Parts: sequence; structure tokens; C-alpha cells
Amino acid sequence: MRGLTGEPHGFVKLCGTASCNWVIMPEWRYSARIKKNAMKIHDLITTTEALEDLCARLAKSEFVTVDTEFMRENTFWPELCLVQIANEHEAAAIDPMAEGIDLTALLDLMCDNEDVLKVFHAGGQDVEIIYNLTGKTPHPIFDTQIAMMAISQSEQIGYANMVESWLGITVDKGARFTDWGRRPLTDRQIEYAIGDVTYLSDIFPKMLRKLIKTGRGAWLNAEMEKLADPANYANDGDKAWMRIRQAGRNPQVLGRLKAIAAWRESEAKHKNIPRGRIMRDETLADVAGHPPKKQADLAKVRGLSNSWKDNDIGKRLMNVLENAGPLPKDEMPEKTSRNGAPLGKEGALVADLLKLLLKIRCREIDVASRLLTKSDELEALAAGVRNLPILQGWRYEVFGKEALELVEGRMAFTVKDGKMVMTHLGDVTGGDTLDDPGGEPQAGDDEPAAAQTAAAE
Ligand SMILES: [Zn+2]
Repeated sequence: MRGLTGEPHGFVKLCGTASCNWVIMPEWRYSARIKKNAMKIHDLITTTEALEDLCARLAKSEFVTVDTEFMRENTFWPELCLVQIANEHEAAAIDPMAEGIDLTALLDLMCDNEDVLKVFHAGGQDVEIIYNLTGKTPHPIFDTQIAMMAISQSEQIGYANMVESWLGITVDKGARFTDWGRRPLTDRQIEYAIGDVTYLSDIFPKMLRKLIKTGRGAWLNAEMEKLADPANYANDGDKAWMRIRQAGRNPQVLGRLKAIAAWRESEAKHKNIPRGRIMRDETLADVAGHPPKKQADLAKVRGLSNSWKDNDIGKRLMNVLENAGPLPKDEMPEKTSRNGAPLGKEGALVADLLKLLLKIRCREIDVASRLLTKSDELEALAAGVRNLPILQGWRYEVFGKEALELVEGRMAFTVKDGKMVMTHLGDVTGGDTLDDPGGEPQAGDDEPAAAQTAAAE
């Protein structure tokens, strides 16, 4: 593959779709080619021809930045209202609602062109809307919000804050909540929307440079593939119940939950209204837990309209409840990663200690804790489980190794000169300070990501 594969100036290596694995190439020489020309901003694209021209040019880029604007307040399926796209030289907003416009060229670039990296910021909903249109997800994909977790402690940095920290530019948020479905769009709306991709195309190469410098690009492989996994976006009514919070593991209750959730999906799709307008999640869980005996009882259910006691939708709900069987064994939700291992009071204290270690570690190596682990995994470690992601690969090097030493009694926290240090038990002199993790990739300087980057420019 051209460009991204590493030849002749590639920076991201792709190894095919099936087991796509991209690795950031250390010999990346992007900085040498950075242009400082002003970016060309096109007029709103409203015709198939203009879109095809644009996409043909963008298809020659190594990456494009992409954002979408949509409305999902009143419909089941989000309605795509605008697509913004840019590379290093040009940017455009595309009107998908323009009469007669055919989006094929754009969707092909997104989903069928493996040579062009698609860069989003917090792209989950954008990916979803593209999936709804094509049954495919954009690929290969890079998400700057996720990437920020590897080089800063930001768990979920917003676009404006990211732009501020990398470019020192304050983004106009004024148009954020405008009605993107209204036509014509104002110049201000379009200008605002295009800013969502132009700054991103300035930031992405800098971010990549930082990932290369720190050697942390590979930390993100699995995260980016997860974002692009079509399974996350498939709208399977039979799986809708999994998104609803429900305490307990009673197969009867879960069976009803599954049945009502699937039914709600089909009602909402049929009427093309948000699922919450049929019935809210809490109400759904409530009905699954305490099913009414007869339709008249629906009037007493909090969150349901009184009219359900004798109308058609209430009748359909009762019918679903009557036919719901228990959830089959093989569909029962997985237990926590502790896998039944008891934690106990002492274990909970150990887990707290691990959380403290995590906190210290994340601060020192400047990484978001969410990228490393979650508290249920630490509880599992404290409970004696060893088959865990933190005990594998880069997570082990960066955190798991010390965490394991701590729970297995080979390390201890001590305070030395007012500073927390990790001490190997048996060490006479004792005291690997936590500042010296040794071996694993370092952020480089002591400055925060933003300051460091700004200084480098
Ligand atoms: Zn946007």
C-alpha cells in the first residue's frame, strides 16, 4: 500500500484489513514536509460531481480528518446533516441533504480505501452514522480523543480543549447546538463545522510525532480496532437488552428484559422515533423486574402513559411479556473479571492500594488510567485472578509488573523524604522511586503534552 505503509514517507504501517495492525514507523519524516500554506476552504459541496472531484483528490492523501453533524433528537436513526472533511491542503463541508447528491465517492473513501487513514475526534457517533449508511465502518481509523489517553491524563478530552492545548487557539463554540437540519445553513454554521476538521488536520501530525517519540503508538492498536469493529454498531434487537442496566442475574427477569428491549427496538424503528419515547430504560427494567399481571395494571407503572391500560401498544407489550421465556444459559452476562473469586474486606483494601499505585503511575508517565485498566480488573488482581490484560504486553511493562509485585508481597509503599517510593522487600538500601520506572517508554520531557508540543513548533 502507498503512503501509510511506510514507503517512501509513511508513518503508519498497515498490515491488511483482516488482522489490521498499524504500527507507527520511527523513521517518519513528516515534519520535513510540513507546509505552512493557508488551507483552501471550498464552498459547500452540494453536487455529486463536486464531491467526486474532492474525493479523488483526497484519496491521494495519507490521511483525512472527518467529522459529521447530525440530528438524533426526534428520530430512531440519526439524520446525517453535514459531513466535513479535510487533508493538509483543503477542507470542505458536504451537504448530504442536497437534492440528488450521491454520496458513493465519499463513502468509498471512508470504508473501501485502505490507503487513507481516517482521523476523527471522539468518532463513535460518526462511525455509527457511516455504518448505518453502508453497513461498514471507516477503516483504517484513528481517533485523537483515544490517542490523547496515551500521551496525557485526559480520559475524554473535548475538541475545543484539545485544540486549545495543541494550537493555542480558542474555538468558537457558538454554533455547536444549532439546528443542522435547517436549510440553508448559515455561513457561520459552515465555518464552525469546518473548524472541526481543519484544526484536527493540524493537530494530527503533531500528535503522531509525539506518539513516535514516546513509542506509544502501539498502545493504541487495539483501541482503534475496537472503534472500527462493525459489531459495535450492528443494530441487533436481540442484543438491545445488554445496554440496559439491570441488577441481578435472574434468568426470568433477564429473559423479560431481552424480550421487551427487542420489542421496543422494533416499535421505535417502525415509528422512527427515539427508543426512549416508547419507554425509558428505567421503566423497561422496572417492568422486566415486576411484570404487570394484566394490561390494566400498566396504568400503575411509573413512566408509562395511563392510556397503555387499554390501547394497542399496551396490548402488544403484554403479549411480549406473556411470551418471554427465561434467558438461556449461554446468553447470561459474564460475571465480573473476578470470575467469582471472592474479594473480601482485606482484598478490597488491597484493591485500594492498587488504585493508589495506578494513580501515581499514571501521573508519572502521563497516561490516562482508563487506557491502562479499570477498577474491576484491579479488584480481580487483588482477588488472586492472574489471567488479566494488565499482566500482558505493554500494560504489564508499564504497570502490571509492579502491581503484581505489590499484591504478591515483593514490593511495598514507603515514604522517603516526603515522597512515595516503591521498595523491593529485602532491599537493604531500598527505594526505587516511582519516578524511575526504568525501561518503558517515557513521555520525553517533564512538560505536559501541550506545552511540549507548542515549544517544539
Ligand atoms: Zn462537528
